[in-house]
Amino acid sequence: MAIPPAPDLPRIVTEIAAEMAAETDRGVVADYIPQLAGVRPDQFGLAVATADGQLIAAGDTGVPFSIQSVSKVFTLALALGRHGNAVWERVGREPSGDPFNSIVQLEHERGRPRNPFINAGAIAVTDAILSQYAPKEALGEILRFIRFLAGDDDIAIDPAVARSEKQTGFRNVALANFMRSYGIVTGQPDKVLGVYFHHCAIAMSVRQLAMAGRFLAFDGRLAPDGRRAVSARMARQINALMLTCGHYDGSGDFAFRVGLPGKSGVGGGILAVAPGRASIGCWSPGLNTIGNSQLASRALERLARRTGWSVFAAR
Ligand code: GLN
Repeated sequence: MAIPPAPDLPRIVTEIAAEMAAETDRGVVADYIPQLAGVRPDQFGLAVATADGQLIAAGDTGVPFSIQSVSKVFTLALALGRHGNAVWERVGREPSGDPFNSIVQLEHERGRPRNPFINAGAIAVTDAILSQYAPKEALGEILRFIRFLAGDDDIAIDPAVARSEKQTGFRNVALANFMRSYGIVTGQPDKVLGVYFHHCAIAMSVRQLAMAGRFLAFDGRLAPDGRRAVSARMARQINALMLTCGHYDGSGDFAFRVGLPGKSGVGGGILAVAPGRASIGCWSPGLNTIGNSQLASRALERLARRTGWSVFAAR
């Protein structure tokens, strides 16, 4: 069902971008992936793709940034489309209550990650995709899917970011090998990680991200009456996981403050979904201590409050 956008949405979006430009407390840019450490922290962008086909945006709306863990939403959708419920044999659907790169739960739970949005879970999902393809094909398939969702063939991988993470991603190497020992990951860990690092290194602007998330806002379609990307049920299920697990150990706080499903990445991006109304891309590179964008979280809280959008409200 499509709901008309708030009439004053352009003003709200412009105001929020202006407020964020004036913020001085911008969080800290991730530096554990060396290539990300050089990103300028003074950037901010917000884009809202509405049910009536508009794209309302303000700030640094066309600057591509590293989507990092936001890519996990797209790989999950792709894996569910290909493998259906078999994906849930490898990965759970519960919040982890631990950092995104934590290894501690895995041994207790016999190598099966808590959910598809922490690193371990996303690596297991990537392995599922890879079980059908050669690594280059799997990566091509992921990129094609995201380009299709966004309706934009310019979306590309930043090879320098992928290389940088490959050189320093020791913790992910540990996670992949650990899961391989339990048979949750079935492929060669280095091949699985090669694909994982590259899909995390996809670069998108907030405009492209808002467009790519439309299928989650519109019951699995690219627009309320548009082409279908996934089933309506699957879109709802992914939204549920974004709400409960999309911000790692900050998921409860994001749901409390923003009230919309969202997925963050350490590049500072957040994809948020107002079902029936809009798909929202937001970005600012500085992170809070949990690894979620400080200003993008704050901006989405203001957007939700000023539009009245919430999955917990009747209208
Ligand atoms: N590629 C990053 C990693 O594996 C993704 C983490 C994130 O965005 N939270 O560490």
